Amino acid sequence: MNHKDLLAWYENNHRELPFRKNREPYRIWISEIMAQQTRIEAMMPAYEKFIALFPDVRALAQGDDDVLMKAWQGLGYYSRARNLKKAAQVCVDCYDGQLPEQYGELKKLPGIGEYTAGAIASIAHGERIPAVDGNVIRVYARHYGLDDDFSNTKNKKQLTSLVRADLPDHEHMPFWNQALMELGALVCTPKIARCEECPLRITCQSAADEAWKTRPAPKKKSERRIEKKHVVVLASIDENQKIWLHVRRRPDSGLLASLYEFDDRKPQTFLKSQPLGDYRHVFSHVEWLMSGELVLCSSHEGFLPAEEIERDCSIPSAFLPFYQRAMEFLKEEQETEAVSAC
Ligand code: SF4
Repeated sequence: MNHKDLLAWYENNHRELPFRKNREPYRIWISEIMAQQTRIEAMMPAYEKFIALFPDVRALAQGDDDVLMKAWQGLGYYSRARNLKKAAQVCVDCYDGQLPEQYGELKKLPGIGEYTAGAIASIAHGERIPAVDGNVIRVYARHYGLDDDFSNTKNKKQLTSLVRADLPDHEHMPFWNQALMELGALVCTPKIARCEECPLRITCQSAADEAWKTRPAPKKKSERRIEKKHVVVLASIDENQKIWLHVRRRPDSGLLASLYEFDDRKPQTFLKSQPLGDYRHVFSHVEWLMSGELVLCSSHEGFLPAEEIERDCSIPSAFLPFYQRAMEFLKEEQETEAVSAC
């Protein structure tokens, strides 16, 4: 692979992102964990908010769990946020409040696997180590004309060996892995390969005949368990037109552990109810087919003010569509009641 051309392309074409400015290990770590399931552009507001709340390892290690979960709302896979805090605590206890520098030490921290350790060690410290994510797999599969299934561990190891063999010297390492990832994100993308703009097109084995369209081989889809769920948003509007909602915590372990959810059944007596439509939420191993209902109650005993829920409670993405639809209905209801009270 041509180092000079790829590095020159990166120098001239990479996106200006806040965590790339000074190559601070903490910021690289947070951005890499967030980017695992989310597009960079979509995660930026959450990233900025997270860094404002938890500007360094010590702040994260001491962070309040509810604030942490709220900061992670909308990003999904909340175990990543819990692991960030656990890893920060290890850094405070064992590394004087800093992330360790070496790949081997980074990989021992909770939630940091080969890819993240490689990204932090290479970008922040120039360690000569690969960081193989989906973008890098795609660029390599296409550039070297590989038709293997890279969800297979043996095949991925072989591809990683190729990446390792191409690594540049220590001085250029901070930019090399980023250049590969950026090329995969901007030029050699899953749906379209912009070969005419690509610095690797001369040596690429998939450019000429559009063979990139079939590389890398699609992953074998795993079967997901289907579960049906009924979500009941219990709400009340008091005499001052204030909206109250009922939320409860999920169990401490398992899917969406310790986050907030709505109820799953109606009380025996209520004022009125309103369907909130259907929604399908896909997790890695299970799929929820959900239906929702807003139930207006006469009392708000045990409920929380809606603005407190909005500010403090982390509601997982699976429940957010029902929450948003419920709030739209409740605001209309609130206005109607305010008018009739005049
Ligand atoms: S030349 Fe085309 S297929 Fe090859 S790496 Fe570049 S964008 Fe991808």
